[in-house]
Amino acid sequence: MLIDGELVGSVSGKCFETWNPATGEVLAQVAEAGREDIDRAVGAARKAFQGVWRKTKPSDRQRLLLRLADLIERNVDELALLEVLDSGMPISLARSSLIPRAAEQVRYYAGWATKINGETIDNSAPGDFFTYTLREPVGVVGAIVPWNSPFVIAIWKLAPALAAGCTVVLKPAEQTPLTALRLGELVLEAGFPSGVVNICPGFGGEAGAALAEHPDVDKIAFTGSYKTGQSIVRASASNLKRVSLELGGKSPDIVFADADLDRAIPGTAWAMFRLSGQICCGGSRLFVEQKIYDRFLSKLSDFSASIKVGNGLNPTSEMGPLISSEQFRRVSGYIQSGLEQGAKLVCGGERLLTGDLRNGYFMPPTVFEHVKPHNKIAQEEIFGPVICVIPFKEIDEVIALSNNTTYGLAGGVWTQNVQKAHAIAKALQSGVVWVNCFNVMDPAVPFGGYKMSGYGRDSGADALEQYTQVKAVWVNVGS
Ligand code: ADP
Repeated sequence: MLIDGELVGSVSGKCFETWNPATGEVLAQVAEAGREDIDRAVGAARKAFQGVWRKTKPSDRQRLLLRLADLIERNVDELALLEVLDSGMPISLARSSLIPRAAEQVRYYAGWATKINGETIDNSAPGDFFTYTLREPVGVVGAIVPWNSPFVIAIWKLAPALAAGCTVVLKPAEQTPLTALRLGELVLEAGFPSGVVNICPGFGGEAGAALAEHPDVDKIAFTGSYKTGQSIVRASASNLKRVSLELGGKSPDIVFADADLDRAIPGTAWAMFRLSGQICCGGSRLFVEQKIYDRFLSKLSDFSASIKVGNGLNPTSEMGPLISSEQFRRVSGYIQSGLEQGAKLVCGGERLLTGDLRNGYFMPPTVFEHVKPHNKIAQEEIFGPVICVIPFKEIDEVIALSNNTTYGLAGGVWTQNVQKAHAIAKALQSGVVWVNCFNVMDPAVPFGGYKMSGYGRDSGADALEQYTQVKAVWVNVGS
């Protein structure tokens, strides 16, 4: 792990194994952070925050971030390979989209480092006072991230935190520590001062909980399940640390009869099947207008069945395995529950066991129809490649159905009618709405949820603000 500028083992000497989900093979033994390691990392981050990093000029923070972005780009092949081995995602996605996007995210926030300002404020208090605000970094940030898109999500937290002048302790998910560790080496190569970035792989209940409870951590930036989000909120009460949470989703994706089906069919399929459905904003509830329901379903089924599932290292694979046997059991359990509650499988639903796929956790694209809105598969987050197709007749009906969930991360609508598109965009109770597209993201555009999908945002100026706090200064200038 990376603590105070050095690559070290854990205090206890303990290690854990990380596996390739496509083959079940052990990839590496990784140092396992326990409470003492988290304590050391937080101590180093505190020292750096109050010392060297506080004194670093914004332009120097910018330069360091730009250097890190260049290093990510220079090492894109290796980072993509590590990400594929550890998480199972297709190499095409990692190599040409996710890792390059992480470099862009770092560059975007490098630009912000020199543009963080307070304000001067005209006040009406009796007397003569000059008032202004200082926008200051919140301090030591604990970033706790998941395994579905490990590198990009780590960067989502790290880049704005560093731009704002915070220091960081990053805890990657126990399933996918490898790209975070390589990031640690790149941070050193970029020349960040010791202690500014610390990276501690370990388990959620131990290292994650230690970070969330730690009295010297000022903020937790988290992406993961809502249950873990709730424990983090409880743990944060000890010192009232700030928390931002990007949690699960059960996103609606709405197709009107006037949609361009050549775009909507692949669009709605990939809205859910990207990353094998292990994507928090996935379009898992697909509402299709009754008039085109049969035609749409048959085309969606053909398209889904044509998606190439395989080892992510194979350049032709479009969808990889699920992350673990545990996740596979969870997804299979939901498929079983769908069948028991009367839903009908249109395609997929059974483990792929042919040839090389036998040792991995491969579930093909799965589409259900005859799903009732109250069924478990239409209410709970499956985090696997499963779409529930539900017909609708009226716009008000589909708005009510779409919002009938405790989540509120994202939603999509496919239509060529501009009034309908805007009406849906306004009516959906979610932090993101995609019109005639899905899963499009950019460093400048905020991403995050309403309702139980969490609070706070990743990306954009909104995310940056969460790593800062405002101080009001009153100067008595009266004679
Ligand atoms: P998933 O169920 O998708 O694995 P989790 O929310 O369990 O999602 O995991 C996301 C991240 O949260 C991981 O880095 C995990 O180690 C961490 N984590 C899990 N439990 C806790 C906890 N109690 N406190 C802090 N972090 C945790």
